[in-house]
Amino acid sequence: MVSRTPITVLALGGNAILQRNQKGTFEEQYENVKSTTTQIATLVNDGFRIVIVHGNGPQIGATVIRHEMGQTKVPPLPLHACGAETQGFLGYIIQQSLRDELARRGSKRAVATIITQVIVDESDPAFKHPSKPIGPFYTKEQRDTLLRDRSDLVVEEDSGRGYRRFVPSPDPKEVVEGEAIRVLVENESVVIACGGGGIPVIRQRTRLQGVEAVIDKDLAAERLATSIHAESLVILTDVDGVYLDYGKTDQRLLSNISPSELETYAQKGYFAKGSMGPKVEAAIRFLRNGGKRAVIANLGDLGGAIKGSAGTQVRN
Ligand code: ADP
Ligand code: MG
Repeated sequence: MVSRTPITVLALGGNAILQRNQKGTFEEQYENVKSTTTQIATLVNDGFRIVIVHGNGPQIGATVIRHEMGQTKVPPLPLHACGAETQGFLGYIIQQSLRDELARRGSKRAVATIITQVIVDESDPAFKHPSKPIGPFYTKEQRDTLLRDRSDLVVEEDSGRGYRRFVPSPDPKEVVEGEAIRVLVENESVVIACGGGGIPVIRQRTRLQGVEAVIDKDLAAERLATSIHAESLVILTDVDGVYLDYGKTDQRLLSNISPSELETYAQKGYFAKGSMGPKVEAAIRFLRNGGKRAVIANLGDLGGAIKGSAGTQVRN
């Protein structure tokens, strides 16, 4: 039986998997995910149809280091394949702990991870301006050696902390597995998809080709939410919502706001580029594309975010 309960896409911030002060052991990541899936299980039990999107910043950085350090023994894989690896292992952790939690509550809802590709445009200007630092820090000498072998890489100084590889962050256009995800969710499965923003691919004449880039997970979550006709897009992070004058003594939380009002603030430059900016952009796009509601809230306030009492609630 296909029910009519609303579909909600949850975009989990980095803090759902790894806290800023942690090293990144498997156990740490598992414990963090467990406290998040406990909250998600409550929603699933309440009848919500859920798709989970998660970030992968620290994880893909670590995977790239493993590939680079191991290259005297085994050939390193390209960045898009590293992205697929992180979708696999993070999906595994999330689906295992969510399934366990649902089983504990007597629920038989199925949970599955979909390795997800996201189409980007080959002529996206982002390819000319790599903006996302990833992977290990290098000294100047290491950088010069690296560039001798790989002149295609962009390795620049990262905020005075050393040299780092920068990759493009193109705009997501279409979720390749969108239809498969929609069918699973319609039929009440909980789906984990678009991990890390999805694996960036470009469309070549008859095939798809992975590219050396990373996609913002909030913008990818919007594309997915729109394509599966989700009612709500709920972006969970480590702040209580969207603030004006964030970090200043007079910062103000925006509680209820329309997309056009939010857009006006965005155009005035209130939201930082690599962090709150894409969340706000994702919320605005989702409503423009037919979504009913977007929420940006603290991960710990998931229940309130869904009920409408926490975070920044964006509606027309
Ligand atoms: P996530 O992993 O959830 O995507 P990000 O670090 O990318 O986390 O984004 C959340 C961060 O955005 C917050 O920790 C905060 O420091 C920052 N931020 C920047 N501008 C704002 C703003 N106007 N309001 C709230 N948070 C903001
Ligand atoms: Mg982010």
